[in-house]
Amino acid sequence: TEVLLEDLDHVGPATAQKLKDAGFTTIEAIAVASPAELANSAEIGESTAAKIINAARQSADVGGFETGDLVLERRKLVGKLSTGCTEFDEMMGGGIETQSITEMYGEFGSGKTQIAHQLAVNVQLPPEQGGLGGSVIMIDTENTFRPERIAQMVKGISDKHGIEYDPEEFLKNIHVARAFNSNHQILLVDSANELANELKNTEMPVKLLIVDSLTAHFRAEYIGRGTLADRQQKLNKHLHDILRFGDLSNACVVVTNQVMSKPDAFFGDPTKPIGGHILGHTATFRLYIRKSKGEKRIVKLVDSPNLPDGEALISVTTDGLGD
Ligand code: ADP
Ligand code: MG
Repeated sequence: TEVLLEDLDHVGPATAQKLKDAGFTTIEAIAVASPAELANSAEIGESTAAKIINAARQSADVGGFETGDLVLERRKLVGKLSTGCTEFDEMMGGGIETQSITEMYGEFGSGKTQIAHQLAVNVQLPPEQGGLGGSVIMIDTENTFRPERIAQMVKGISDKHGIEYDPEEFLKNIHVARAFNSNHQILLVDSANELANELKNTEMPVKLLIVDSLTAHFRAEYIGRGTLADRQQKLNKHLHDILRFGDLSNACVVVTNQVMSKPDAFFGDPTKPIGGHILGHTATFRLYIRKSKGEKRIVKLVDSPNLPDGEALISVTTDGLGD
């Protein structure tokens, strides 16, 4: 049976409500919070906050140590999702990995949403065709999900594999939710976990979570230096929630991120991803997408735990992603 916030020591009904209002809806969320963050949100003292966090940690069994053989056991289950592009797949060591966050950042129009759409199609294919035989959860913050685009891409892979796929069937396996603000976006990860649980033992378990865009709401809502720390803390918690989703469901997690221009950068590329260090350390793979000639795009692997940095040339056409 599920443990409720109210069941934790030091949490009364009023505190529970304040915590929920601040986005701490689960024991896990509290377990990974900092005392200062919790104290602020629930208007309680920091020492009480620390006690609540301890109680949550004991209850949720998070933050413990794991032996290397167990990590290896879980790593053996890592699946790879093909992008449909030869160079891109090779650069990624075979494809987008499950149990990791892959961040794509780039300017407006660089192709992040296109890649996300293509992955939402590819993941549904069987492993022989580069997929993971699973369904998709998409958290859409910018209202850029287009079912028509999915249909075009399904036609694209039909031509490519010489198999007549039904766009309707693919659309049925893409679960889209609009996120209206950052708090809503955070809450949607809980719903995503519930949906993944429901689909776990079906023919199409959830194998891909897309958050497009991860940072737009946070960027719009937290303006000015005073609120920056607060924003980073929320974003950090959100990232850990989605990473945990990837682990629990053995699913790929793909997030998009905008770039901000850095006018003081005289040398090199004057663009930097939003989100700063926290995002840099939590995203397992970071991809920088930029436009090239015509339909060509350059995907650069900027950061990875076990792969060399590299670049891949892809193209975005009406049929979808290709070489
Ligand atoms: P981002 O999410 O990085 O802001 P998008 O993924 O929305 O950018 O990329 C938009 C670009 O994708 C368009 O400018 C166009 O080049 C390409 N694109 C979008 N739809 C199609 C289509 N149906 N056929 C061909 N290219 C398309
Ligand atoms: Mg986009």
